[in-house]
Amino acid sequence: MLKLCVECESENIVFNKDEKMWECLDCGYKAIEPLIIKQAKDIETCDDCPIYGEVCPGGAKASPSGTPIDPPCTYWDDEQQVTETMYDYDGRDY
Ligand SMILES: [Zn+2]
Repeated sequence: MLKLCVECESENIVFNKDEKMWECLDCGYKAIEPLIIKQAKDIETCDDCPIYGEVCPGGAKASPSGTPIDPPCTYWDDEQQVTETMYDYDGRDY
């Protein structure tokens, strides 16, 4: 599995022995979870998707005001790298 820093997309990341934490050697970013990166073309269902759950409710939903909201995957192309942390929570409007 391809693994890149979520901050700077560097490949120079190191894991501790149980892979619960990693650190980027280029930008110094540290994470407490293993990186999960998939390419959009490898994701067939929401259950396969790293962002399903906390970040994305899955499927087409509407905001409380009734505006339809497309899930983020609507806009991915096949090569899009999908990580659990690709969207920050402050940016979402639902
Ligand atoms: Zn980095």
